[in-house]
Amino acid sequence: MPKKNQNNKTMPYIPLRGLMVFPRMSLHFDVGRPGSVQALEKAMVEDQRVLLLTQKDENDDHPTLEKLYPVGIVAHIKQVVSLPGDALRVLVEGENRFLIRELTEEEGCPFAAGEMIDDTDQPSPELEALIRTTQRVFEEYARGNGSLSAEMLRSVQQVKSASALADLIAANALTRFEDRIAVLQEVDPEKRLEALDVILMREGELAVIERTVQQRLKQQVDKNQKDYYLREQIRAIQEELGEGEGRLTDRLRKKAEQLPLNEEAREQVHRELDHLAGMQTGSPEMTVTQNYIEWILDMPWGKYTRDNLNIQRARRVLDEDHYGLKKVKDRIIEYLAVLSIRQKEGQDLNMRGPILCFVGPPGVGKTSIVRDIAKAVGRKFVRMSLGGVRDEAEIRGHRRTYIGAVPGRIISGIRQAGSMNPVFLFDEIDKMGNDYRGDPASAMLEVLDGEQNNAFRDHYLEIPFDLSQVMFITTANTRDSIPLPLLDRMEIIEVPSYTEEEKLQIARRHLLKKEIAEYGLPAKSVRIPDKFMKKLIEDYTREAGVRILTRTIGQVVRRAAVDMLEEEQSSVTVTTEKLTAYLGAARYLRDLPEKKPMVGVVNGLAYTSVGGETLSVECTVMPGSGQLSLTGQLGDVMKESAKAALSWVRTHQSELHLDEEFYKKLDIHIHVPEGAVPKDGPSAGVTMATSLVSALSNVPVRQDVAMTGEITLRGRVLPIGGVKEKLLAAYRAGIRVILLPKENQKDLEEVPDYVQKAFQIIFAEDISDVLKTALVHESE
Ligand code: ADP
Repeated sequence: MPKKNQNNKTMPYIPLRGLMVFPRMSLHFDVGRPGSVQALEKAMVEDQRVLLLTQKDENDDHPTLEKLYPVGIVAHIKQVVSLPGDALRVLVEGENRFLIRELTEEEGCPFAAGEMIDDTDQPSPELEALIRTTQRVFEEYARGNGSLSAEMLRSVQQVKSASALADLIAANALTRFEDRIAVLQEVDPEKRLEALDVILMREGELAVIERTVQQRLKQQVDKNQKDYYLREQIRAIQEELGEGEGRLTDRLRKKAEQLPLNEEAREQVHRELDHLAGMQTGSPEMTVTQNYIEWILDMPWGKYTRDNLNIQRARRVLDEDHYGLKKVKDRIIEYLAVLSIRQKEGQDLNMRGPILCFVGPPGVGKTSIVRDIAKAVGRKFVRMSLGGVRDEAEIRGHRRTYIGAVPGRIISGIRQAGSMNPVFLFDEIDKMGNDYRGDPASAMLEVLDGEQNNAFRDHYLEIPFDLSQVMFITTANTRDSIPLPLLDRMEIIEVPSYTEEEKLQIARRHLLKKEIAEYGLPAKSVRIPDKFMKKLIEDYTREAGVRILTRTIGQVVRRAAVDMLEEEQSSVTVTTEKLTAYLGAARYLRDLPEKKPMVGVVNGLAYTSVGGETLSVECTVMPGSGQLSLTGQLGDVMKESAKAALSWVRTHQSELHLDEEFYKKLDIHIHVPEGAVPKDGPSAGVTMATSLVSALSNVPVRQDVAMTGEITLRGRVLPIGGVKEKLLAAYRAGIRVILLPKENQKDLEEVPDYVQKAFQIIFAEDISDVLKTALVHESE
């Protein structure tokens, strides 16, 4: 405990504004107030000791007792210097704390009554520990402070008295007035040190925080400066290139304002532009956002081509580019006529109504006729192949959160078309798949649905886009594999395969010209007389359409061009020799060398996705236990029809002179070669029954006969589809005798005469009619 000087004292005092002196410390200050001057003078004439008190309020000219901090310092006046005016400059040294109790005045000189405090401390282990702690805390504080002199540090380490230590540190190291006065006011040395420690620790922490903040600010400033510098450079470069950053957002905003965007699009663009404006130039995010905005703005908002629905003109265009296809053209003209009427009557231009779907084998001109529709009407044309599209995202795009996301093919197609009402062709809609990535067919359904496609939402674009004016048209090879809900929305237009005659006409009128132009040769420089064109078609191609024919003619034209150069001629006329020279030996022969009858091998006629085809059905039997195996990628319907054929054979085994127990002792294997082509349908029933009977009875089958027809359990032969296609295929394969269901007789109308004349056509009502013709009987 500090000992208090019991000696009460009255002393002249000077109130100080914002200043204080500590014991053992010096202080310079100026005195101006008359009372203070008096006090100073009084002190000078006595023991040169004056009490220095600190004002609580600096602006107070006559502070009362309450307005002064209660603990003051008795100071020894060392020097007094007169300043100009009445002011005096004083140098003092602090000595003791003094606790005031009362203020008085005597002849204008202020006096304070109170008691002198002796704060010399009594050494104790606690105090010793406290001193050391303070020294350590101070050391720490000084390390963070940096502005304290080494001498100061040394003195702090040397002080042994708690009281002196606190005052030394407070006077020299503390900067805040409140902290200094708090230490000064504490009369108990132990408490004074503790208070000081708290202040030092707090200040130390603050210093650390201050330092990190400072560092951060400095880094920030450095980075800002660097960024600013770089940005200025970029700006300079961009300005040099005429693509300033400011200009980018301005340019986009201006563009957006000029476009007839829908409301959602406009809002979205503005939002993204604001976002863009706040981004750092060159950041990857900026590129992404810029791309996105540009995608929206690049869409053909409000751009429509005017339809030219002049029917005569449309017919002329279709006729000009395509030979034949009468039914198809008629249907297109009807479609356009309806459109024309609706437009004239001012009905909305929405393309509601069924979507046209051209179905037919490859190369019959489905795509090119759709292109012609666009040409005839004066719309832009876009084509998208759906073959192998399994991912919904291909149609509807990826969400923007994916890296590298882009819109789907619909939106890309429209942008590419550059108009809101192009003819949009979906090729191979029957070849669309679906898997875990979502069902593209359902996305397609939405696209094609006139009720909902005025607000089509692409995952990437996010905003609704109006597709209702787009003329969607689709193509497919077979209608069977078109997803049903889609099929419901479409009107099927069959595009049949071509006869040899039609191919000849197409080749001479269109294909040859096109190929000559394709290779940049003068028109008519390559001539292929009809006779040789026919040979080319028959000997070098076998297809429903004219794709391979086009390619083959191209080959002829190329080789002819070489000839012209070598022989320095201006044109070439193709002859048989030249055909052989250009294309090699004939690839297909119609007049097949007579094939010997064979056991278990039967020619069938099928209608597949590539058109009509001949296919052979093979059957073998071997000792076993009555197993039936079927191979060659057969569909379920075809398998069932094989079982029906077998049942008929079993029920007629005695008539057929078969071993009664054959189905117990034998294994039967039916195979339909060309396993790569999936086959299905019931029309191979009679073919399979014939091959079974032949194999089981070991009777050979004529190879110049081909057949088609469904079979019932009772052996009735039912009609089938695709007669024309099948007969054309049989013609190409050099078949002589055709077995057709009786009920298909009426379909022969469609089959060109020259084809019909090439065969003996036999109509069958019952399988026995078929067997009678196809099997080679012993008598023959
Ligand atoms: P698809 O779409 O049915 O597979 P394409 O439209 O690709 O067939 O036709 C293949 C080529 O044959 C095209 O160059 C096309 O112009 C031509 N072509 C097909 N049919 C005819 C025709 N009737 N008249 C003229 N050229 C045709």
